[in-house]
Amino acid sequence: MRIVLGLLICFLPDISSAHDPHDDIPPPFLAIDKIDREDPFRQLDDVLPTPTEARLASGAPGPGYWQQRADMDIQVTLDASSHRLEGKERVTYHNNSPHTLTYLWMQLDQNRFRSESIGNSSDPTDMDAEESIGWLRRLAFEEEFVGGFNILSIRDRAGENLDHVIVDTMMRIDLPTPLKSGEKLEYLVEWNHSIVNADLLRARGGYEWFEEAGNAIYEIAQWFPRMCAYTDYAGWQNKQFVGSGEFTLEFGDYKVAITVPDTFVVSATGVLTNQDDVLDDIQKERLAAARSSHRPMFIVTPDEALENEKRESTGEKTWIFDAKNVRDFAWAASPKFIWDAMGVSVPGGNITMAMSFYPNEGEPLWSRYSTHAVAHTIEVYSQISVPYPYPVAISVNGPVGGMEYPMICFNGPRPEEDGTYSQRTKYGLIGVVIHEVGHNWFPMIINSDERQWTWMDEGLNTFAQFIAEQLWEEKYPSRRGEARNITGFTTSTDQMPIMTNSEQLLQFGNNAYAKPATALNILRESVLGRELFDFAFREYSRRWAFKRPEPADLFRTLEDASGIDLDWFWRGWFYTTDHADFGVEKVVRYHLDTGNPDVEKPLQKEERDSDPQWISRMNNEGLTLRSDRYPELLDFYNSFDELDVTEKDRRGYERFLSRLEDGDAELLQRQWNFTVVRLRNYGGLIMPVPIEVTYESGKTERFDLPAELWRSNPRAVSRLLVTSEPVVRVEIDPMLEIADADRSNNVFPQEIDQQRFKIRPESDRSNPMQLDRDERLRIEAQIAARRLGSELASRIKNRESGTPVPAAARILQDMAEDALADPYGQMLSVFDSTDENGIARIVSVGPDGEPGTGDDISWIVHADGSIEEPVKKSEP
Ligand SMILES: [Zn+2]
Repeated sequence: MRIVLGLLICFLPDISSAHDPHDDIPPPFLAIDKIDREDPFRQLDDVLPTPTEARLASGAPGPGYWQQRADMDIQVTLDASSHRLEGKERVTYHNNSPHTLTYLWMQLDQNRFRSESIGNSSDPTDMDAEESIGWLRRLAFEEEFVGGFNILSIRDRAGENLDHVIVDTMMRIDLPTPLKSGEKLEYLVEWNHSIVNADLLRARGGYEWFEEAGNAIYEIAQWFPRMCAYTDYAGWQNKQFVGSGEFTLEFGDYKVAITVPDTFVVSATGVLTNQDDVLDDIQKERLAAARSSHRPMFIVTPDEALENEKRESTGEKTWIFDAKNVRDFAWAASPKFIWDAMGVSVPGGNITMAMSFYPNEGEPLWSRYSTHAVAHTIEVYSQISVPYPYPVAISVNGPVGGMEYPMICFNGPRPEEDGTYSQRTKYGLIGVVIHEVGHNWFPMIINSDERQWTWMDEGLNTFAQFIAEQLWEEKYPSRRGEARNITGFTTSTDQMPIMTNSEQLLQFGNNAYAKPATALNILRESVLGRELFDFAFREYSRRWAFKRPEPADLFRTLEDASGIDLDWFWRGWFYTTDHADFGVEKVVRYHLDTGNPDVEKPLQKEERDSDPQWISRMNNEGLTLRSDRYPELLDFYNSFDELDVTEKDRRGYERFLSRLEDGDAELLQRQWNFTVVRLRNYGGLIMPVPIEVTYESGKTERFDLPAELWRSNPRAVSRLLVTSEPVVRVEIDPMLEIADADRSNNVFPQEIDQQRFKIRPESDRSNPMQLDRDERLRIEAQIAARRLGSELASRIKNRESGTPVPAAARILQDMAEDALADPYGQMLSVFDSTDENGIARIVSVGPDGEPGTGDDISWIVHADGSIEEPVKKSEP
């Protein structure tokens, strides 16, 4: 091998010298310029996996399709004093694969929080010149926190220990006898682990501590050892949990008993099966009433939640939940929870309970929007995908910004402490609830492999979220989905194709959420149209509900069900980083020459005579020419005009007409307008091109050119438009639908670019001498205030006891004016104290001499005559 490499290196200089343009000897091979480019329309056969009887060429699961199943029976106790979980789980693993298994793998996601985990120790870390205090707090927490699972025992049904080996976030359980196809295995795992503080560590679950109240909200996820997926396409999914790639999971039935302090309210995946043990009669009544309510109703009111979180816990309660056919289980618990709910009708006749759990800190935002957003998501997604199959859908407010699990999701946005909130917070909450509830479909039901492909659930879900948001209210400010919003990303330099593994993605949100969502939206609106797309998307959801689709299954199904070859679209949007940028290069209007000399020659004459004057001829005007001095130099050609109509021309035209077939003469007379539009593809991405032309009359018309327009030349193409009126303007992509990155070349003739500019306000140019003077004046002001303060205190103190204390200002009536002067040339003002804090308040108008402005200085006067300047929080 090494010898061959050496030879290659030796030969390289010789080869390159053959290309030297200065070399007179022609190259020893034929130099032929051929079209050398990749065909953007070639089929994806060389990229997609070969279809099998499990995954058919149509994109549907086939007769050979199988998947494993894991049923779980879990008992868990939350120790709220030490933020720990103790758990015991019975796993029933069904080997539905055609294979014999000698060992099983489980996922221990909590192990990512071990300091030596791959995720922790492989995070590229760097420091900035400025770091936040939160960054320091996180470091301190990480130093103390001992994360990860303690696996106490793994035993089979007979109580025999099963050997196991932990490999980072995974655990192999060795089976004493192989598990054959069609067999099932039951075993018991006992474990415990500490819960992370989710305010300090970026996590998908954890607790939020409320210092003043001395209590917490727990959002518990990836909290128990879960089965690794064993699949037809990857065997055991052995990509470790590094942090970004989420989960590849098996479906199963869950029964989970959660023991918590008795003041806690618990919310979880599934249906609460022991209401009588944990709810009081009023709560049960309200819950039943909410089922038929069309507006959210409180099960626990804000006032009741406030009362509840003040109560001391005196014991424990166990909440038991049942969940059928789910791929995971998560829960939340807190004494702080308000709880509201409403019933939502699902197509097919079922009613699902849309519910929210949140603390008073979430009010009034949460009671207004959360449960409505849950209900809206169920309604919209059930239409565009499959009907919601589960009995509950829950949104919880706590420390996690946004994270999804079956039937339950965690959402972060909260109002300010005073109950006001910004527009961003409002739409942030509605948007995140729709998004996280939407994940019930992608990937909780349509169970794609998140550890491999973030886009398969985030992209599809963000696309559906966009549809739901646009059906919430007029002009809903969606962040992602609209074609024009993606151009900043598609033209950025550090991007990778959508088809990139979750851990290696650059620009995660744009790559895995926004771009696939936008691509699907364009596919729906501009490539397939809503009717074809919606049918095909529903078909994909239906085929793969409660199964495990791969990217090829999506690509193939959308083609299979729409009848349109989309390989060019998948290739461009999912396998390349090409962007869309089309331009109108030129527009040519052709006139049909009728051949009639009496019509055409006068027209040609007009064109010739309107030819612009050229400069030398203009400058020579008035000069004496030789032919002026010798007129005999002018002959026949000086008066001959080749564009004068002659009888010979007319006879020729007659002959031309006589040779035409019947009706052709009439065709020549018709009012045709021929316009050739020359389009260029600057971005490389193949897309359909919508064109709008404007006619002389001002009327417009649309021509929708399909993507196949580019099949003979993907870079430049001309298109003839035959219209009844003359075209005066051409615009491509007038409705902003194809994510065209540079719109300045979309209009012909080009238009003046309209921009806006502002005058910058003059900046504060105080020099250090001025700042020093200001500081000295401030000290003088403080001295004056201190003098006044002690005078004030002694006058109040010296009054005879029993007489009422007059207003602070009045007690100073007889004071000399200069005792009240401040160093800014104004008088200090004295006000009564507004609270118990101090006996009065002194105010100086500050350097600007104006009362009521930002530079005013205010001091509190205490009873002993001392003064105190409160810190202004808003001061920069
Ligand atoms: Zn998401």
